[in-house]
Amino acid sequence: MAVTVSPEAHAHTFDALVAATLPAAARRIDAFAARVRSAHLEPEDLVDVAALERIPVLSKDELIELQAASPPFGGLLAPGARARRVFQSPGPLYEPELEHRDPWRAAPALEAAGFGSDDLVLNAFSYHLSPAGAMFEAAALALGGSVVPGGVGNLELQARACLDLGVTAYVGLPSYLKSLIERAQAMGAEPGTWPVSKALVSGEPLPASLRARLEEWTPTVRQLYGTAEAGLIGYECDAVEGLHVPSDALVEVCDLTTGKSMWDGGEGQVVVTLFSSDYALVRFGTGDLSAFMTEPCPCGAPSPRLAGWLGRVGEAVKVRGMFLHPRQAEDTIGGTPGLARFQLQIDRIDHRDVLRCELVAEDPSAAGGLAELVRTRIRSALRFDADVALVDGLPGDAPVLLDRRTWD
Ligand SMILES: [Zn+2]
Repeated sequence: MAVTVSPEAHAHTFDALVAATLPAAARRIDAFAARVRSAHLEPEDLVDVAALERIPVLSKDELIELQAASPPFGGLLAPGARARRVFQSPGPLYEPELEHRDPWRAAPALEAAGFGSDDLVLNAFSYHLSPAGAMFEAAALALGGSVVPGGVGNLELQARACLDLGVTAYVGLPSYLKSLIERAQAMGAEPGTWPVSKALVSGEPLPASLRARLEEWTPTVRQLYGTAEAGLIGYECDAVEGLHVPSDALVEVCDLTTGKSMWDGGEGQVVVTLFSSDYALVRFGTGDLSAFMTEPCPCGAPSPRLAGWLGRVGEAVKVRGMFLHPRQAEDTIGGTPGLARFQLQIDRIDHRDVLRCELVAEDPSAAGGLAELVRTRIRSALRFDADVALVDGLPGDAPVLLDRRTWD
């Protein structure tokens, strides 16, 4: 039986890998050595995760600056190392794909979703510029499967191919799988004749309602979380409770201010370190917010889990020492019965953060109890006390969160 370890204990299973890879990388890659030295460390000091954590988090913006100053990869690709493909993601940011059978390390996520050598996989991720298409194709091929390189668009042709070829598995956006199923239905297919029995989706949120709808046709729908820069970061198992982190990259959740790792379930930025002496992507800040789940997974796998995607770093605001972000507010307040719109407003009064929530009722004449219901939801789900007030209206472009604090 697998032994479940805590997120922190799991991190320390990387100590040997840190020592075996990163000093060598720093000796080969000057730009990485400079980062190490700017943290008052020498390459040979990188002997464990604790030492690694002294290197400040590298933000996406900083990586874009590094690349602009030293094209194409900011000097982080070792001299002599070959990028067999080069991708571009928004920024622009350029990502090298190294020589490897599964260069983005996504095969374990496909395997966890039940993909294997018998599968014919429709890959509906883009093959253009972004690494997603190549990332999933390489993983499917690494498992011995076959791939239909669908890419984006051509819905009619892709649905036809699924039916004609008996495609057994799907990778792509969840919304695109929904469109494919609807198109196949229009062609006369039914759940019993739809051959795609499993799907690994990514790139968009997967609300429970959409998963349920997809699973009426494709019984197994699992999620992968990854980025263009770092590849696989997390994936769902059969328990479908959070995202297991991979065993070949160190995933941390770091305090937004100090950059320190938080293994106790606190919310922060997802930070990734790859272990390659060819390309030094070390303590890369994804800009995504998550938290570790501290209880063991029912599936018995030992790797810890991230509690899904909780928002983007830039969108979160800290109120009374706790993070509050638009998506969380939307999830908590947005679906309240009788509520048309709302806005959370943060003010600083007498050196204290004050949270106020303005509500617009669907029917003002029947809004009794609405304010109290929202106040209770804010207290129980967001853990804040807020002044809640019904108002006649909010501007059309009013954001969910309005931070009006000044700090002078
Ligand atoms: Zn699990």
